[in-house]
Amino acid sequence: MIAAFKVPERKEHIDREAFKAEIRRLSTHYLNEWDTLGVLAAADRIPAADVRPVVRGAWRRIGKTGRIFVCSACDKTFPYKTRCCPNCGADMREES
Ligand SMILES: [Zn+2]
Repeated sequence: MIAAFKVPERKEHIDREAFKAEIRRLSTHYLNEWDTLGVLAAADRIPAADVRPVVRGAWRRIGKTGRIFVCSACDKTFPYKTRCCPNCGADMREES
């Protein structure tokens, strides 16, 4: 039996330091000093999301029949393709 793996819905998370860098960049034109400091302080107070880096992979066909697929992330072979690798959990959906 093939195990069913549910790929979690994609949510958007941002990098705190990248956000702060953008606020600093905008502050030179659009924000006054107090607004800038307030937003930067708020960015530091917001708790970090509990996320893991997404491992992405792709299926490659191998073998004479083309019915064997290899995960590009872990090199494990399977007789089928799934949305994520059953071995390593790599997300096999193409990025949009
Ligand atoms: Zn894998």
